[in-house]
Amino acid sequence: MSTEQMNPFKIVQGQIKRAVDMLELEPAVYEVLKEPMRFLEVTFPVRMDDGSVRVFKGFRSQHNDAVGPTKGGIRFHPDVHADEVRALSMWMTFKCAVLGLPYGGGKGGVVCNPKELSKGELERISRGFFQAISQIVGPEKDIPAPDVYTNPQIMAWMVDEFSKIKESFQPGVITGKPIIIGGSLGRNEATARGCVITIREAAKKLGIEIKGARVAVQGYGNAGSIAARLMHEMGAAVIAVSDSKGGILNPAGLDPLKVLAFKDETGSVVGYPGTKPITNEELLELECEVLIPAALENQITAANAGRVRARIVGEAANGPTTPEADEILAKNGVFVIPDILANAGGVTVSYFEWCQNLYGFYWSEEEVNSRLEFMMVKAFENVYNMYKSKRVKPRDAAYLVAVDRVAQAMRVRGWLG
Ligand code: GLU
Repeated sequence: MSTEQMNPFKIVQGQIKRAVDMLELEPAVYEVLKEPMRFLEVTFPVRMDDGSVRVFKGFRSQHNDAVGPTKGGIRFHPDVHADEVRALSMWMTFKCAVLGLPYGGGKGGVVCNPKELSKGELERISRGFFQAISQIVGPEKDIPAPDVYTNPQIMAWMVDEFSKIKESFQPGVITGKPIIIGGSLGRNEATARGCVITIREAAKKLGIEIKGARVAVQGYGNAGSIAARLMHEMGAAVIAVSDSKGGILNPAGLDPLKVLAFKDETGSVVGYPGTKPITNEELLELECEVLIPAALENQITAANAGRVRARIVGEAANGPTTPEADEILAKNGVFVIPDILANAGGVTVSYFEWCQNLYGFYWSEEEVNSRLEFMMVKAFENVYNMYKSKRVKPRDAAYLVAVDRVAQAMRVRGWLG
């Protein structure tokens, strides 16, 4: 039995501790940051299509609001658990800090399998959950958004539910909404776009040509499928992609849009014509220049990290690499762009969306994308400079930038004594 730490909550605690120690900060910083300031567990009844009532469980975690209201997505997944949601909210705090956004970290989750639910059931779960957490969310308190297996339609039901409770339209309570009710242009692509920008910047530093670079993408949801498309548009060869059912390989390169159309039609990328079936594990070990884990946590572990042959890993997912795997990748010269930087494009455009909602003034897609570009490049530079000057792993560098910022906010607010 491996003794590798796989609990994301313990993993993020270790990451914070390392940064606090490296920065030689007062011990109170770790004491405040080591767990969320607020954690709500709810159960709520939902009427199913067959007339029966099922009770669902959900969580909302608010890690730290020293910098501003908490922010982060809601995931719907059968395996969601309390410690995972805690950890994801903590990663959000540091993600927002790396980008310099005026937010702390939050996250939510509902234990359910959207693939087995009708549209009506999904709507009633979305409304039921939002009602259950409505006391602790709000445009100035905590602002949810999409995450794994949730989407703009689900955000629309949630905003509708909240607006009814508050007896007024409340678009600023949630981001990732459909455009017609106050969503931002560019939000849907933003996580992938931000990730691809960081990969492009890393490739420049490492002297890797994106044109012709081989790319493997694990996960073909919002982040993975759009990252594949954007890499393809930049001239890279997307040789392999996968989803929860398995992966496909074509060394000559795939057309990501056609693969997406196939998945929309059949439910999976598996079986796409002209490809060789591979497993999710095999995908991670392919010889390529860029590997994009865009699925769930703990995919690159001590067990397989030694066989990763990519030169750059761009973490579109949250927490895809364990700490032990991180050490192995660093030793092997693999440049890992950590999740709290690589996938921060989503929350960055969520911030733009929230600003637009508060102002009631809406931006063009060009404006959104050019501001995103500016912020991602600046954040990448900050982390890269820290990486160079402190001679630490890129992930540690990102935590040094982030933890220091949150500590400064807590210090001036008088939280540290
Ligand atoms: N769920 C996304 C993340 O993990 C986006 C969060 C947001 O936009 O608030 O970063």
